Amino acid sequence: MAEMEPVIGLEIHAQLNTATKLFCSCPTEAVLDATAPADSPPEDRPNSRVCEVCTGQPGALPRTNARAVELAATAGLALGCRVNEYSVFSRKNYFYPDLPAGFQTSQLDPPICEGGGLAITDGEGREKRIRLNRIHLEDDAGKCVHDDQRGRTLVDLNRAGTPLIEIVTEPDFRSSGEVMEFLKKLHNILVHLEVTKGRLEEGEFRCDVNISLRPRGVEKLGTRSEIKNLNSFRHAGQAIEYEIVRQGGLYDQGATLVQETRLFDPARQETRSLRSKEDAHDYRYFPQPDLPPVHVSPGALARLKAAMPELPEQAEARLLALGLTEEQAAVFLDRRGAVAYFDQARPLLGDDRRLAALMVELLLPACQRDGLSPLECRVPPAALAALGKLMADNTLSRRAAYDLFPELFEKGGDPGELARSKGVLQISDTGAISDMAAEIIAANPGEARKYREGQEKILSFFVGQLMKKSKGAANPKLAGEVLSKLLKS
Ligand code: ADP
Ligand code: MG
Ligand code: ZN
Repeated sequence: MAEMEPVIGLEIHAQLNTATKLFCSCPTEAVLDATAPADSPPEDRPNSRVCEVCTGQPGALPRTNARAVELAATAGLALGCRVNEYSVFSRKNYFYPDLPAGFQTSQLDPPICEGGGLAITDGEGREKRIRLNRIHLEDDAGKCVHDDQRGRTLVDLNRAGTPLIEIVTEPDFRSSGEVMEFLKKLHNILVHLEVTKGRLEEGEFRCDVNISLRPRGVEKLGTRSEIKNLNSFRHAGQAIEYEIVRQGGLYDQGATLVQETRLFDPARQETRSLRSKEDAHDYRYFPQPDLPPVHVSPGALARLKAAMPELPEQAEARLLALGLTEEQAAVFLDRRGAVAYFDQARPLLGDDRRLAALMVELLLPACQRDGLSPLECRVPPAALAALGKLMADNTLSRRAAYDLFPELFEKGGDPGELARSKGVLQISDTGAISDMAAEIIAANPGEARKYREGQEKILSFFVGQLMKKSKGAANPKLAGEVLSKLLKS
């Protein structure tokens, strides 16, 4: 049997970060009960956040949430898609108890965004672009709660009508590693842009994996299975590995595969068949007559583009160009607010590498420990820049600066004053050092002669004397320079 190659395409659902649902003003999150004690978590009583629209009652008129449209367009801009000026909502008809209207409101043709892509690194370390097919807006369904003990099923519609985007890729992946890298990167971008809160455990970012095998070199796609609702990057990878083996085994036996929908069971590390797959026409899509087309005007699109923050990849490239190491850049991107802090402190210190080192070695670990963004802590950019300046002009040794930092972080204030009050400032005043140097040379004529006769090593004796005389406060480098100059004269 020819060697088989996996072909994988993804459909990713991301819950949009809006306060209200896609077509009504019901909240997307549990609301705090005003009568509950202040510290109690918001209780999400079933069917407490519903109205006639999100429960699909006849005659109720939906209205499109403008913020959801903006967030979908922002995602499209970030991923290099074409954002359509007009797109259309369609009804995707099917029956399920948690879908009271009898249809999901989704977009078939045209969707809000088309094309685009995202680059990842493939197995051989080469850059590989994953093409996107489309991004469309749709609403989420409710939830069936099965009560096995009493043998009944309850329906909770709190989630019904929550805005989602579905991102559909082309079948461009060839391994589980590529899929996991793509998912992490996509998640990173959408969370960074605040398009989604992206809480995986809440199902706010979940994906369906479509996977088939084909003999290497053959163009035509094989029969796929679709593994639904994976809300962990690792599980997505594990489900793919399992499917490669399962489908490969069937081909080896000469079996014919059927297109089907499967579920992954993390406990057993296997996928199981749920149903054979419906084709798109089974849904009888038709334009939703209750909603006007989604409109993103050129002006609105330009405003969204202008308001878009730097993407993680652009920030990384910029940090590397400023001389940061890859490790430092990775730490910066991993910590909320680090890049913004860095950008504010840069002009104040004027030494990007020193600033990055201070942040990575001192500031960010302390913030991490206390769960703070650097811009929220007691060391504002100006104070860290001041600390860096004291080090740059040798007024504060690196050692002293690092010793001082925990107190600065805890109490705030001016680093110069703190250093002075601790008596750890170095004497970098050439005049003061010269006076001491002259006295020491006068008191040690024998050693001075030896130095002049060529025993240059004796300089360290003089530096030691000067450090002693200054009670350790002199800047040793400067002391050496001044002493050697005086000894030679
Ligand atoms: P549906 O919406 O019915 O699941 P789509 O045609 O929209 O189907 O495809 C969904 C995803 O499945 C896309 O990412 C697509 O690239 C991928 N896909 C389609 N056919 C195959 C196949 N034979 N093998 C692997 N992936 C596939
Ligand atoms: Mg699908
Ligand atoms: Zn509602």
